[in-house]
Amino acid sequence: MSTLFQRFDCEEALPRLYQFIDAELAIHELEAMRDHLDGCDNCAYEHEVRSKLKRIIREACLEVAPPSLRDKVVGRLAQLRAASAEAA
Ligand SMILES: [Zn+2]
Repeated sequence: MSTLFQRFDCEEALPRLYQFIDAELAIHELEAMRDHLDGCDNCAYEHEVRSKLKRIIREACLEVAPPSLRDKVVGRLAQLRAASAEAA
């Protein structure tokens, strides 16, 4: 039995996603997140969407985006999400 390796369930993993994306987690939490994302399609998908959104917003901010852009991005992601939920 090992206590070195922590495991997250979805309830523990999801609130940490942004910190994970920003590399703000402690090492043992990083490991647990990677492990969870490897085995959990739902959280892996959330991770992908949120890191994409973050990148898009960051790039958009560099170019001084119109205020409507974020709404557009969020709307598009919601569409993608609905589509992928239907496909699943
Ligand atoms: Zn999960």
